[in-house]
Amino acid sequence: MITVDKPTVRKPDALLSVVIPVYQEGSHIGNSIRTIENVLKDNRIVYEFILVDDGSTDNTWNELKKSAYGNDKISIIRLSRNFGKESALCAGLEYAGGDMVLVMDGDLQHPPEIIPDMVSIWLNEGYDVVEGIKHSRGKENIIYRLCAKFFYFLIYKSSDINLGKASDFKLMDRKVVEAWKTLPERAIFFRGMSAWLGFSRKEIKFDVAKRVNGKTKWSLFRLIRLAVNAITSYTSMPLHCITLLGVIMFFGALLMGIQTLFMKLSGRASDGFTTVILLQLIIGSAIMTSLGIIGIYLTKIYKEVKARPRYLISDYIRGGDDKC
Ligand code: UDP
Ligand code: MG
Repeated sequence: MITVDKPTVRKPDALLSVVIPVYQEGSHIGNSIRTIENVLKDNRIVYEFILVDDGSTDNTWNELKKSAYGNDKISIIRLSRNFGKESALCAGLEYAGGDMVLVMDGDLQHPPEIIPDMVSIWLNEGYDVVEGIKHSRGKENIIYRLCAKFFYFLIYKSSDINLGKASDFKLMDRKVVEAWKTLPERAIFFRGMSAWLGFSRKEIKFDVAKRVNGKTKWSLFRLIRLAVNAITSYTSMPLHCITLLGVIMFFGALLMGIQTLFMKLSGRASDGFTTVILLQLIIGSAIMTSLGIIGIYLTKIYKEVKARPRYLISDYIRGGDDKC
């Protein structure tokens, strides 16, 4: 059984950890941090920042060091290479020490103005998770929007959890973070896993702002990889679909068998060449696709069995340490 050794005290001076994964955001990350910090200060929220540089190759790390210099509220972590947003988030969550932890993006697409509302919901209404829900998805092209819809539809159908408007803008109570840390899998899909955790939740709507600068890191390929990873981490539905397909094809085979026998016995067996070719193609592609799906799960098992760490840290500068 999992027990939480540090019960949260919900008091106005509770510590808020702001975890931000940062990748190639050198041009504006300093500004983002200042903007968020101003909102926190104006609302007298006690805070710390955990900023995780996800192996950026631009000046992000230097910018983070500049922001952290002389500011004991900012801790910065540098991963040894680009591990992906989910792993960077994971690193941040493991280093966050607050009574509540807020996860957000570094490009100000998650509006900092609603942080005080989120904190106040946690403080006064007693919810364990305050989730930012996308009221409008901001500017996205039509293909991206359709793909996202299809992806969320698949997840919803296979697991009954609606992630359609969910985002990675979330405030979590310490006990939720502790529970998250007990999830052992290597392949992480933050949104799905945090939905799986449960706990009392309240949604808060926000409009996705325009990116302050730079561009999104999600190429079509990365998105497809994320989608496949998310679906296979989350549900074994595709495997059941293979079984279903097999059963359907079995009934098809019965019908075709009866028809073929009938043709044979009535002396008309010579034609049907088209049927044979069609059957070969259909069965061949069904088997290939099924093997592919099984292969994806096999790879996942292989990766989990290898049990490599989710990320590696090359530098860590804790708030208050001597930073040069
Ligand atoms: N990010 C990251 N590692 C990556 C890609 C993105 O840490 O490999 C961070 C990025 O710096 C940002 C957040 O994840 O803070 C969201 O990324 P982005 O804005 O590119 O995604 P979008 O808002 O378009 O979904
Ligand atoms: Mg963004």
